[in-house]
Amino acid sequence: MNRIELSGKSQGKGRNGYFQLHSVELMNIPTDPDGQVLNIDFYPRRRVNCVGPARLLLNVEDAKKLAQFLGEAVESRPSVANIEHGVLVCECGHRGTPRLEESGYQVSHALVEIVGDTIIASGWDGSSRAVSEEGDAYWLMCDGCGKLHPLPPELHIDWR
Ligand SMILES: [Zn+2]
Repeated sequence: MNRIELSGKSQGKGRNGYFQLHSVELMNIPTDPDGQVLNIDFYPRRRVNCVGPARLLLNVEDAKKLAQFLGEAVESRPSVANIEHGVLVCECGHRGTPRLEESGYQVSHALVEIVGDTIIASGWDGSSRAVSEEGDAYWLMCDGCGKLHPLPPELHIDWR
Protein backbone atom coordinates (compact mmCIF):
# COMPACT_ATOMS: atom_id res chain seq x y z
CA MET A 1 0.00 0.00 0.00
CA ASN A 2 1.30 3.42 -0.98
CA ARG A 3 -0.14 6.59 0.45
CA ILE A 4 0.52 10.31 0.08
CA GLU A 5 -0.85 13.20 2.13
CA LEU A 6 -2.26 16.13 0.17
CA SER A 7 -2.60 19.75 1.23
CA GLY A 8 -6.36 19.48 1.52
CA LYS A 9 -6.72 22.44 -0.85
CA SER A 10 -7.69 20.43 -3.92
CA GLN A 11 -11.26 19.38 -4.44
CA GLY A 12 -12.52 15.97 -5.33
CA LYS A 13 -16.03 15.01 -6.33
CA GLY A 14 -17.55 12.47 -4.02
CA ARG A 15 -20.90 10.77 -3.90
CA ASN A 16 -22.32 13.59 -1.79
CA GLY A 17 -20.67 16.53 -3.57
CA TYR A 18 -17.24 18.10 -3.45
CA PHE A 19 -14.76 17.39 -0.70
CA GLN A 20 -11.22 18.50 0.00
CA LEU A 21 -8.66 15.92 -0.98
CA HIS A 22 -6.60 14.94 2.02
CA SER A 23 -4.77 11.84 0.91
CA VAL A 24 -4.43 9.35 -1.89
CA GLU A 25 -3.90 5.67 -1.48
CA LEU A 26 -2.75 3.40 -4.22
CA MET A 27 -2.99 -0.35 -4.27
CA ASN A 28 -1.36 -2.49 -6.90
CA ILE A 29 -3.52 -5.41 -8.00
CA PRO A 30 -1.32 -7.62 -10.16
CA THR A 31 -3.80 -10.50 -10.05
CA ASP A 32 -6.82 -8.58 -11.38
CA PRO A 33 -8.53 -10.59 -14.15
CA ASP A 34 -8.43 -7.52 -16.46
CA GLY A 35 -4.66 -7.35 -16.20
CA GLN A 36 -2.38 -5.31 -13.96
CA VAL A 37 -4.38 -2.51 -12.42
CA LEU A 38 -3.97 0.13 -9.76
CA ASN A 39 -6.74 0.96 -7.34
CA ILE A 40 -6.50 4.66 -6.51
CA ASP A 41 -8.64 6.00 -3.68
CA PHE A 42 -9.00 9.70 -2.91
CA TYR A 43 -9.83 10.51 0.70
CA PRO A 44 -11.26 13.57 2.41
CA ARG A 45 -9.99 14.62 5.83
CA ARG A 46 -12.45 12.61 7.84
CA ARG A 47 -12.09 9.03 6.82
CA VAL A 48 -15.31 7.29 7.60
CA ASN A 49 -14.64 3.91 6.10
CA CYS A 50 -12.05 2.01 4.15
CA VAL A 51 -13.41 3.13 0.76
CA GLY A 52 -12.72 6.65 -0.51
CA PRO A 53 -15.60 8.61 -2.06
CA ALA A 54 -13.65 8.97 -5.31
CA ARG A 55 -11.92 5.96 -6.81
CA LEU A 56 -10.02 5.18 -9.96
CA LEU A 57 -9.24 1.78 -11.36
CA LEU A 58 -6.39 2.31 -13.79
CA ASN A 59 -4.42 -0.13 -15.86
CA VAL A 60 -0.67 0.39 -15.91
CA GLU A 61 -0.62 1.96 -19.39
CA ASP A 62 -3.31 4.50 -18.50
CA ALA A 63 -1.58 5.29 -15.19
CA LYS A 64 1.66 6.06 -17.07
CA LYS A 65 -0.20 8.26 -19.55
CA LEU A 66 -1.97 10.08 -16.74
CA ALA A 67 1.26 10.63 -14.82
CA GLN A 68 2.93 12.08 -17.92
CA PHE A 69 -0.11 14.22 -18.69
CA LEU A 70 -0.21 15.69 -15.18
CA GLY A 71 3.55 16.23 -15.18
CA GLU A 72 3.42 18.09 -18.50
CA ALA A 73 0.41 20.15 -17.43
CA VAL A 74 2.22 21.29 -14.29
CA GLU A 75 5.48 21.95 -16.19
CA SER A 76 3.84 23.99 -18.94
CA ARG A 77 1.63 26.13 -16.74
CA PRO A 78 1.67 29.55 -18.37
CA SER A 79 3.48 32.36 -16.60
CA VAL A 80 1.45 35.22 -15.17
CA ALA A 81 1.31 38.29 -17.42
CA ASN A 82 4.15 40.73 -16.79
CA ILE A 83 2.64 44.21 -17.11
CA GLU A 84 4.96 47.22 -17.23
CA HIS A 85 3.57 50.71 -17.72
CA GLY A 86 0.32 49.38 -19.13
CA VAL A 87 1.81 47.02 -21.70
CA LEU A 88 2.38 43.27 -21.67
CA VAL A 89 6.05 42.32 -21.68
CA CYS A 90 6.08 38.79 -23.14
CA GLU A 91 8.88 36.18 -22.95
CA CYS A 92 8.97 36.30 -26.78
CA GLY A 93 10.31 39.85 -26.61
CA HIS A 94 7.13 41.55 -27.77
CA ARG A 95 5.86 44.55 -25.80
CA GLY A 96 2.41 45.92 -26.41
CA THR A 97 -1.23 46.08 -25.49
CA PRO A 98 -2.43 42.49 -25.16
CA ARG A 99 -5.79 41.15 -26.22
CA LEU A 100 -8.28 40.12 -23.54
CA GLU A 101 -9.48 36.56 -24.05
CA GLU A 102 -11.83 34.41 -22.07
CA SER A 103 -11.59 30.66 -22.32
CA GLY A 104 -14.78 28.64 -22.31
CA TYR A 105 -16.88 30.63 -24.76
CA GLN A 106 -16.87 32.62 -27.95
CA VAL A 107 -17.60 36.18 -26.87
CA SER A 108 -14.90 38.64 -27.81
CA HIS A 109 -13.81 41.33 -25.42
CA ALA A 110 -12.02 44.50 -26.35
CA LEU A 111 -9.22 45.58 -24.08
CA VAL A 112 -9.13 49.35 -24.16
CA GLU A 113 -6.13 49.99 -21.93
CA ILE A 114 -4.37 48.97 -18.73
CA VAL A 115 -4.13 51.76 -16.17
CA GLY A 116 -2.38 50.89 -12.94
CA ASP A 117 -4.10 47.80 -11.53
CA THR A 118 -7.14 48.15 -13.79
CA ILE A 119 -7.88 46.64 -17.18
CA ILE A 120 -10.42 48.82 -18.95
CA ALA A 121 -12.38 46.64 -21.33
CA SER A 122 -15.57 46.64 -23.29
CA GLY A 123 -17.57 43.62 -24.30
CA TRP A 124 -19.81 41.16 -22.60
CA ASP A 125 -19.60 41.75 -18.87
CA GLY A 126 -21.25 38.52 -17.76
CA SER A 127 -24.52 40.22 -16.82
CA SER A 128 -26.56 38.82 -19.69
CA ARG A 129 -27.92 35.29 -19.56
CA ALA A 130 -28.14 35.21 -23.35
CA VAL A 131 -24.83 33.37 -23.57
CA SER A 132 -25.24 29.77 -22.51
CA GLU A 133 -21.65 28.78 -21.95
CA GLU A 134 -19.76 29.84 -18.85
CA GLY A 135 -16.31 31.30 -19.29
CA ASP A 136 -13.58 29.72 -17.19
CA ALA A 137 -10.86 32.31 -16.98
CA TYR A 138 -9.55 35.54 -18.44
CA TRP A 139 -6.23 35.64 -20.25
CA LEU A 140 -4.04 38.31 -21.74
CA MET A 141 -2.88 37.27 -25.20
CA CYS A 142 0.44 38.50 -26.58
CA ASP A 143 -0.08 40.14 -29.96
CA GLY A 144 3.39 39.00 -31.02
CA CYS A 145 3.30 35.24 -30.39
CA GLY A 146 -0.28 34.52 -29.36
CA LYS A 147 0.67 33.09 -25.97
CA LEU A 148 -2.00 33.32 -23.26
CA HIS A 149 -0.98 34.64 -19.85
CA PRO A 150 -3.12 34.48 -16.71
CA LEU A 151 -3.97 37.87 -15.25
CA PRO A 152 -1.82 38.97 -12.31
CA PRO A 153 -3.94 38.74 -9.13
CA GLU A 154 -3.81 42.49 -8.49
CA LEU A 155 -5.31 43.31 -11.89
CA HIS A 156 -9.06 43.65 -12.08
CA ILE A 157 -11.33 44.30 -15.03
CA ASP A 158 -13.41 47.43 -15.25
CA TRP A 159 -16.12 46.90 -17.89
CA ARG A 160 -17.18 49.95 -19.85
ZN1 LIG B 1 4.71 36.89 -27.00
